[in-house]
Amino acid sequence: MPETPFIIIAIDGGAASGKSSTARALSERFNLLHADTGSYYRAVTSELLRQGASPGRTETVKDALSGLRLGTRIQGRSAQIEVSGRVPGDEIRSREVNEAVSHFAALPELRASLLAYQRGQAQAARDGGFAGLVMEGRDIGSVIFPDADFRFFLQADPAERERRRVRQGQQDQVAERDRLDSSRKASPLARPENAVAIDTTALTIQEVVDRISALVAPRLAPR
Ligand code: C5P
Repeated sequence: MPETPFIIIAIDGGAASGKSSTARALSERFNLLHADTGSYYRAVTSELLRQGASPGRTETVKDALSGLRLGTRIQGRSAQIEVSGRVPGDEIRSREVNEAVSHFAALPELRASLLAYQRGQAQAARDGGFAGLVMEGRDIGSVIFPDADFRFFLQADPAERERRRVRQGQQDQVAERDRLDSSRKASPLARPENAVAIDTTALTIQEVVDRISALVAPRLAPR
């Protein structure tokens, strides 16, 4: 039997740079498990806000994190986070979460609580019979999977990124989140060394997916 390798693709980039649509399309094209780690940070932020924790009062965050129970539900090709047995809904895209998420995500305690969880998605992908894992976020190629088979960094003009969020009907602080995410000490948003940078400003999602696919496809051919 020819052996098909298991691959890990890391996609990093700023808010609304096209990561999610690209990663989702790649997961469909190559039968990969898709992990949107932004949704993980959002889900945890939403739960911490619900419990009254504040990023400025680290002890409230530590308390809330210590009681957090995280799980994974695989829906189609998407690895959804469960918080205390429940997959969170649209509340993770609310204005409150948009405003708070980068402040919580800057806390090393919170990042540490999601580290093993995110790495564990590779095993979830293997167990689920997927050909690999495509994980998107801010520090995937630098911290979570520095040895990923492929590392991409998506960029886009800030004005175009704001327009994308408006088209999605969301009130988001794209520039402000990028500023906070790039300037924090713990795992800042930065292009990992050797990552392939793609400027998506003038490209369709299909064009971005085609560029990435051209690099990835040869590795997924049965050996
Ligand atoms: O990807 P998305 O814009 O939904 O991410 C929401 C926020 O979660 C980011 O602005 C960032 O603060 C945080 N995040 C992170 N590290 C990741 C993914 C997301 O800090 N790997």
